Amino acid sequence: MSVMSSTFQGLAKNKMANKMALRYGLKFGADRFVAGDKEEEAVRCVKELNNQGLLTMLNYLGEYVFTKEAADSATGHCIRTIDLITENNLQSNLSVKITSLGLDISRELCMENLRKILNRARRDNVFVRIEMEDSSHCQLTLDIYKELRAEYDNIGTVLQAYLHRTLGDIEDLNRYKANLRLVKGAYKEPASIAYQDKAKVDQNYMEMIKQHLMNGNYAGIATHDDRVVEQVKKFVAKNNIDKDNFEFQMLHGIRGDLQKLLASQGYRVRVYVPYGVDWFGYFMRRLAERPENVTFVLKNLFK
Ligand code: FAD
Repeated sequence: MSVMSSTFQGLAKNKMANKMALRYGLKFGADRFVAGDKEEEAVRCVKELNNQGLLTMLNYLGEYVFTKEAADSATGHCIRTIDLITENNLQSNLSVKITSLGLDISRELCMENLRKILNRARRDNVFVRIEMEDSSHCQLTLDIYKELRAEYDNIGTVLQAYLHRTLGDIEDLNRYKANLRLVKGAYKEPASIAYQDKAKVDQNYMEMIKQHLMNGNYAGIATHDDRVVEQVKKFVAKNNIDKDNFEFQMLHGIRGDLQKLLASQGYRVRVYVPYGVDWFGYFMRRLAERPENVTFVLKNLFK
């Protein structure tokens, strides 16, 4: 990982930088990746994407919450997001980081909040995906997923290709017929548990996609990598895997061209649409993934 990439990874979790950004509204370029601060901006963004034949998943931005009030507030925003989906007839899922629901305060609080969200989502026929955050939360996230999967059909989670453990988790989650989003991984992780070599991550990524699809489970293949997309197309064609058994997922503001091309070819494409005021950590991770984006931000600053 480059020095610049590590710096943005560090900033993503820096409370002071986050507060400064919120206070001074230093949005400089974040709006390329974030639909907006407000509900109406999120709804408008999703409607535009839906009109182009793209599905979406809404995320009310927030992570690493350490008070019950903040966790309850995030839960309220998730439920409100489900209401927005229903009221506006949006073709959208809900995607949630469970550190925003109080995971670092207590497992019980987090479960209680998740059940409130899942109950409303089940009533309204909305699918909820629990995102995967940094590795210190990985096992806990999977344990929570498994417990809730026994109670709910409308739930999925995420696995990351950079972790050594992941192929084992793919097999373990096969017992749950898990609907998984598969990603390369966005956090800074140590060599003791995660591949540092990009080629190795890419190789493991293809392995996990193939294994999960061959197990007959639904895959959200979340990448902007052309080579992965091409390999997946060939693999599904060769193995007669139906287009209804997987979807490509991409982030709002990244590879819109590819999103539309795939949709026009009859693939299911789902766009991740984050909104809300707590955009800083998310924005920093997007910069860490692609230092070229920093040039874009600097240009914006001097506009
Ligand atoms: P890369 O090999 O990183 O990039 C391939 C190409 O994609 C690049 O050459 C470039 O053209 C384009 N690209 C990639 N990133 C950017 C960027 N930031 N800006 C502009 N272009 C870019 N990670 C998690 O750890 N947990 C999650 O729950 C999670 N959810 C995700 C949900 C979705 C829908 C997506 C798309 C990603 C998610 N990620 C998550 C992030 C993921 O782990 C990767 O960090 C991210 O997708 C970059 O990897 P890549 O597969 O796109 O390929």
